[in-house]
Amino acid sequence: MLCQAFHFALMEVESCHPVFTPLYHTASFIGCWVGPRQPITNHSPLLLQVGMATGWGSLLQDEQQLEELARQAVDRALAEGVLLRTLQEPSSSDVVSYAPFTLFPSLVPSALLEQAYAVQMDFNMLVDAVSQNAAFLEQTLSSTIKRDNFTARLFNIYKQVLKEGIAQTVFLGLNRSDYMFQRNADGSPVLKQIEINTISASFGGLASRTPAVHRHVLNVLSKTKEAAKILSNNPSKGLAQGITKAWELYGSANALVLLIAQEKERNIFDQRAIENELLAKNIHVIRRRFEDVFEKGSLDQDRRLFMDGQEVAVVYFRDGYMPSQYSVQNWEARLLLERSCAIKCPDIATQLAGTKKVQQELSRMGVLEMLLPGQPETVARLRATFAGLYSLDMGEEGDQAITEALAAPSQFVLKPQREGGGNNLYGEEMVQALEHLKDSEERASYILMEKIEPEPFGNCLLRPGSPVRVVQCISELGIFGVYVRQGKTLVMNKHVGHLLRTKAIEHADGGVAAGVAVLDNPYPV
Ligand code: ADP
Ligand code: MG
Repeated sequence: MLCQAFHFALMEVESCHPVFTPLYHTASFIGCWVGPRQPITNHSPLLLQVGMATGWGSLLQDEQQLEELARQAVDRALAEGVLLRTLQEPSSSDVVSYAPFTLFPSLVPSALLEQAYAVQMDFNMLVDAVSQNAAFLEQTLSSTIKRDNFTARLFNIYKQVLKEGIAQTVFLGLNRSDYMFQRNADGSPVLKQIEINTISASFGGLASRTPAVHRHVLNVLSKTKEAAKILSNNPSKGLAQGITKAWELYGSANALVLLIAQEKERNIFDQRAIENELLAKNIHVIRRRFEDVFEKGSLDQDRRLFMDGQEVAVVYFRDGYMPSQYSVQNWEARLLLERSCAIKCPDIATQLAGTKKVQQELSRMGVLEMLLPGQPETVARLRATFAGLYSLDMGEEGDQAITEALAAPSQFVLKPQREGGGNNLYGEEMVQALEHLKDSEERASYILMEKIEPEPFGNCLLRPGSPVRVVQCISELGIFGVYVRQGKTLVMNKHVGHLLRTKAIEHADGGVAAGVAVLDNPYPV
């Protein structure tokens, strides 16, 4: 899901960073892909001169220059508000540091960037369709919930809410679809989805502040043309627009937005970026933990939600996607929130729609056609981004997948139903797990996925306390999507920006929060 790479709950101060004009228009109504305002498909002659088919070439050779550039980049990042709370003091903003980032923006083929943007509204519709299809969710998750307690508990809440009747009438999706660039046999890169995060998709706030940092680095090098190619980006603004629309449709001028927060939140500045956007529209946000909801949350006879006596219009989860985040009381609190008519982002069905098991079933022949009937072009755009995904349910199909993975372990990833990074198994670890699982029904709580192998490139990953050195890296591109549905009518469906995260190739898994990936910007080529 979102972000264990992000799961340290990550972070913001908005008034200190300049606002850039977004390069991409975001469509404000359904199905409208407007495309880039200026072409991003040009190859820059300057870049090609310095040997930049996959990287920054000779710029990476001069150690002294890299160190000086890094000092400048870090100071600019701090000035822009690219911030995290520290590991030592995750609940306090007294001492903060910069969020890790790359020294240079990483090269991304413009065509793949455009493809990822173009398919985002399709993914929004798909997630929304899955969340409304109780029969599909029930059938898809039936084997998983027998063996995976966390998914089972979420599913239980879903069933309880269905049985009582869903009080919520407006639905808000804030998601992020993540991709890597698979190297084709002929060497060309292809966009392949890693996963879609339907809960707590993070870094939309910090991602708006990193373009200025990379422009700064390139300007220091007098590469002003290259600096101008760094795309502007403001996901938190778009995410806040979604929340605003939902809040308006809820229709109670004094109602609040309730942000479900973790006690220890290193990524607070990322979250504040959204809060700041809302406050500027006079929409007030209160931050509370599940524990607070358990103690002070209540429903009235119409199932309106109240916190500390104030009505809540929208509940925005930045917690609640991992088993460790739920005590018995927290599960009670989640149930209370789900039973209410407040607009949950996401509601429990949409969280389930983001599970790895659902992702795997969506790749099965005929499933997209069933969920999105009469939309063959949408189906084709979605399917083009799917990597190989395999069920491990008991039976011949699962046996076959296990045999193939054991025969070529480097080509597969074993994934449990978890979010937040660091849970997947690769290589020898995957082999051992498969040997152990293969005769047990427990294997149904996992899926197998084709391993994406992007072309590595050189960059420096800047982290507090770490020396500046060039390492071989790969990137993961995320596109933020927003939709709002009122009853059966989709009233908003758009993409609202991107996130590029880059990590050293020696790490198979893990995100920014896990200390593996760092923030980056696409340099379109
Ligand atoms: P999570 O919900 O924990 O974020 P992901 O599916 O995003 O789970 O996997 C975590 C990380 O593992 C990704 O950010 C990516 O670096 C790596 N990864 C996941 N799936 C693949 C894959 N199919 N091929 C290569 N790397 C992968
Ligand atoms: Mg992920």
